[in-house]
Amino acid sequence: MAFEGLSERLQGAISSVGKGGKISEADLRQMMREIRLALLEADVNFKVVKKFVKQVNERALGSDVLKSLSPAQQVVKIVDEELTDLMGGEREPLNMASQPPTVMMMVGLQGAGKTTTVGKLAKYITEELGKKKPLLVAGDVYRPAAVDQLKTIGQQLGFEVYDEGTQVSPVEIAKRALDQAKLNGNQVVIIDTAGRLHVNEELMDELRNIKAAVNPDEILLTVDAMTGQDAVNVADAFNEALDITGVVITKLDGDTRGGAALSIRSIIDKPIKFTGQGEKLDALEPFYPDRMSSRILG
Ligand code: GDP
Repeated sequence: MAFEGLSERLQGAISSVGKGGKISEADLRQMMREIRLALLEADVNFKVVKKFVKQVNERALGSDVLKSLSPAQQVVKIVDEELTDLMGGEREPLNMASQPPTVMMMVGLQGAGKTTTVGKLAKYITEELGKKKPLLVAGDVYRPAAVDQLKTIGQQLGFEVYDEGTQVSPVEIAKRALDQAKLNGNQVVIIDTAGRLHVNEELMDELRNIKAAVNPDEILLTVDAMTGQDAVNVADAFNEALDITGVVITKLDGDTRGGAALSIRSIIDKPIKFTGQGEKLDALEPFYPDRMSSRILG
């Protein structure tokens, strides 16, 4: 399970200080060292760890943790609040256009879970947000199987898929899909885009052109939680190029250490909006920083 190691170590670090009532400054320092190591081992970005530890330490010293008879409880509260803050504080919902259709662009590297997430998101938006007739757009024309994959997902969910095969520019496909959606009353248009194995300028140029052509309300980046700090670097690059509006962290059902989920918000200052929790099309969860923090702290 994700965060397992981190959970264990954080809980261990915190409970070790609280056993005999009052704690000393040395106990606190030792605990902070352990928290720092726990985060580094969970593959959290080192700058993020440094800032986090400093913040928790200052708050612990500034409050009456050292005088308290239940220091562990107070530290848990501080760590909980700081972890929540680190992951963005409040839940950030999807941006919806005031005039439909709402246009969303899904971007990310190949294999991150883009195409699957297009389907998951369409299902979520219809079932949870009550929007009707999502149109899924097959804009990943470089991976031939991607068009068929999206069609299959559309069929499974009973949603319309717009495709023009693989010989047409994705910018044209996106434009025409949007025109069609306006004519047919699709309330949401979700555009799948091409990925690559690595970030490159050609890809970013194409994505920038699609963005300029359809002016999306959301540009959601899918990153694979299992890739750890690479996911953070990828997010940074996509955000630089496209000014994304949010992140979907996929494969959080795997045994990832969780570093990406804990670092991304702080590094790129864009919200995590959802997490992917499995291959099935209902395995998408809205991201709540406070719930994730509670889960980590057990
Ligand atoms: P794309 O190349 O970015 O479009 O990636 P795909 O949507 O084809 O996904 C790549 C693989 O990851 C597929 O086998 C998906 O079933 C799988 N996948 C996507 N999201 C998740 C997730 O949240 N959890 C798990 N376990 N697998 C996922």
